[in-house]
Amino acid sequence: MAYYLQRQGVAYDLFEAGSEVGGNMRTLHKNGYTFELGPNTLQMNEELLQLITELKLETELQPLTPRNNKRYVLHQGKLHAVPSCPKSFLVNDLFSKEDKYRILQERKQPPAEVENETVSDFFERRFGVKQMDYLAAPLISGLYGGDPRQLLVNKAHPELKGLETEYGSVLEGMVQKKKRGVFQRAFSFRNGMSTLPQAIADKLISLHLDHKVEFITRIKGKYIISCAANGDHDNEEYDILVLALPAHQAAELIEFTYPGMSAALQNINYPPMAVVHTVYNRAEVGHPLKGFGALHPWEEQSFTSGSIWTSSLFENRCRPHEVMMTSYVGGARFAGHTQLDERALLEQVHQELRDTYQIKALAPVYQHLHLWPHALPQFDLYIEDAHHMAEVLEQDGLFISANWYAGVSVPDCVSEAKAIATKINTRPSSRSIA
Ligand SMILES: Cc1cc2nc3c(=O)[nH]c(=O)nc-3n(C[C@H](O)[C@H](O)[C@H](O)COP(=O)(O)OP(=O)(O)OC[C@H]3O[C@@H](n4cnc5c(N)ncnc54)[C@H](O)[C@@H]3O)c2cc1C
Repeated sequence: MAYYLQRQGVAYDLFEAGSEVGGNMRTLHKNGYTFELGPNTLQMNEELLQLITELKLETELQPLTPRNNKRYVLHQGKLHAVPSCPKSFLVNDLFSKEDKYRILQERKQPPAEVENETVSDFFERRFGVKQMDYLAAPLISGLYGGDPRQLLVNKAHPELKGLETEYGSVLEGMVQKKKRGVFQRAFSFRNGMSTLPQAIADKLISLHLDHKVEFITRIKGKYIISCAANGDHDNEEYDILVLALPAHQAAELIEFTYPGMSAALQNINYPPMAVVHTVYNRAEVGHPLKGFGALHPWEEQSFTSGSIWTSSLFENRCRPHEVMMTSYVGGARFAGHTQLDERALLEQVHQELRDTYQIKALAPVYQHLHLWPHALPQFDLYIEDAHHMAEVLEQDGLFISANWYAGVSVPDCVSEAKAIATKINTRPSSRSIA
């Protein structure tokens, strides 16, 4: 956001509470391993590509090889490949003949506009129930740790709803987009995700690290920002304010200035999520791990919501004779799993990996846990009020550049940040704050 303001010649100050930039985009290099504590992969979009080019990061890009695009789903304790083309769909044993017939009928289902339709209802309307269980639910929970019975399809997955609106059918839309090569590959950076925020920070002229904003007031049309830095407190005055924070943290700052908005922000759900990296000797893992990873439907009642086969995607994350898997624990339905103490949680993950991947080792070579107490905002009915109010408050010069408004993926956040910077630049006021 600040980067785009700067490029457009808008004066700004960016206050960051931490001593490093990046927020959720955090890479940890430890004991010769590279651990992504937040995002593992990004999907390229137009704005992200342009940003990477401007920052001269093309040589740092680390794309996934096509053979590693295959995804698996756990069904009755065994892994099954998720069909990726019509042929693999027809021979797939995840679905009965009747289910396959019903899925193919999706193309004939007329499009419909249903108010507040949940992801679960959307899939049931278009495909039937079983597909929801084994494809959509893990897809959603894998990404958001979310509950498809609560998430609104037009907010949480506008791209899915968009296929129905634009092509009349999700399947037809996917086929057309594949033909036009619209689907982009996932990628990371050779040295990890932190590469991107760090490269942006290196360009910023008004970044203030270790500056925690404590309070925001509005007096005579100006925003007064109270900041704590190095034991001191500073007050600065601005015309425009950009909140680039998780909803619950933003809520505290504007409690007295915008109590209605603050209450709406407090209502946004952020289930906790633990990210566990586990390393084994390759020789002790029976499964070939050729693919992206496996997602676990809730019906399987497994401890984790799935694992990414990190060392299959990116060779340099562990030693060549080892494999690394990144597992996710918690989310909307299994938040309680994150309450276990660290040892018990790590042991549960290890035992599940042993059972699923035919691992002989009694203990992993290495394990690392990172807990996100408020991982990702849920785009359910509770988020609607905050979105409505955010639109109205733009008239006051208050803008939002955060994942609870833009969409949770990093490319969504980048696209929105660019759009907001342009919006601010076309206003008469000149000073802003992110
Ligand atoms: C476990 C996990 C896995 C994910 N996987 C993916 C993925 O694979 N692909 C993908 O595209 N996305 C993924 N995401 C989502 C993506 O990382 C986030 O949506 C995005 O990075 C959020 O950016 P943000 O700027 O909205 O918020 P944040 O990253 O939370 O940044 C907010 C910043 O505000 C600062 N701050 C907070 N309070 C104050 C204050 N009072 N004063 C000053 N500064 C303050 C914080 O220190 C922080 O730096 C994942 C997220 C998580 C948690």
